[in-house]
Amino acid sequence: MSGYDQAAVSGGTTDTGVLGGAASGTKVVLLMGPPGAGKGTQASRLAETHDLLKLSTGDMLRSHVKQGSELGLRAKSLMDEGVLVPDDLIIAMVRGELESSTPVRVLLDGFPRTTAQAEALDVLLSELGAPIDAVVVLSVDSEELVRRLLGRAKAEGRSDDNEDTIRTRMQVYQEQTRPLLDYYKAAGKLHRVDGVGSEAEVSERINAILEAGRKS
Ligand code: ADP
Repeated sequence: MSGYDQAAVSGGTTDTGVLGGAASGTKVVLLMGPPGAGKGTQASRLAETHDLLKLSTGDMLRSHVKQGSELGLRAKSLMDEGVLVPDDLIIAMVRGELESSTPVRVLLDGFPRTTAQAEALDVLLSELGAPIDAVVVLSVDSEELVRRLLGRAKAEGRSDDNEDTIRTRMQVYQEQTRPLLDYYKAAGKLHRVDGVGSEAEVSERINAILEAGRKS
């Protein structure tokens, strides 16, 4: 199987641009894509380049697990299985972070992952007066994804990077998260980026999209 996101997402750019909330100084960028597409790495690079707060729900959850908080205790077994943590817990966690970022200048990595999360995000952002500027989807074929994830398992020892869990996470992505791409495409916000290449090359592709929006 290849071309993970290609069927759902055709056409890279939109005519609505990426200007969004520039007038009010807000900026909201969503980074999406299957497990192993490189969201975490690119999120850190982009947050720095564009002066955005990186909100990675996976990192936030792993930090709760490490601290042994109540949320962490609830999340751990779900994460180890590769299934999603319940929407209400995730939404409350993201809400707290977004509300304390003024003006809202964020890069969301790994959120939203379900329709309920996407709808909650829309409500929250409209309350905060910060529209979504761009949704960037990293596209990588499935063989390469599995190869990367198994490689990461060796290097970082993440407990959810084993073959069974990887399979579940891919399936969860296909069933619950991929449909969101159509939602953002219909809203004219979606930009698909080839996620294969060096970290710098992929960053350049994303930067080109964000910069093009700024000029338009
Ligand atoms: P990946 O994209 O490689 O699967 P993440 O670090 O984004 O990795 O997520 C790891 C795990 O954390 C997920 O498999 C899931 O259990 C949980 N998780 C992260 N973000 C969310 C979210 N937005 N909603 C529900 N669960 C989440």
